[in-house]
Amino acid sequence: MDTVERQHYWLPVPSRTGFQWHRHAFRGKHWDGRPADTSVCGKPCAMAKPSELDWFQAPTCPDCTELLITEQSGTGSAEQPDTASTEQPDTGSPEGER
Ligand SMILES: [Zn+2]
Repeated sequence: MDTVERQHYWLPVPSRTGFQWHRHAFRGKHWDGRPADTSVCGKPCAMAKPSELDWFQAPTCPDCTELLITEQSGTGSAEQPDTASTEQPDTGSPEGER
């Protein structure tokens, strides 16, 4: 029984024109070499092994980013409380100073 796939990976893929590359997120642990897949933002993408330059030049898809963030914050988080702050009241503690 599959639960919702939480893991995702990023891969630069060319757009249909082939001129513009974008880094989309895909479901799964890592790219397994498949020739095409649908990105998190719902775009069917032709996939190919990206070069280092592709990684460098391809901007991250904002839609994928938004969706992943929404997923993370939308489902009742079991790990992080809403007010996760590591602030430490460090002001005026009389302790130690006399
Ligand atoms: Zn995308």
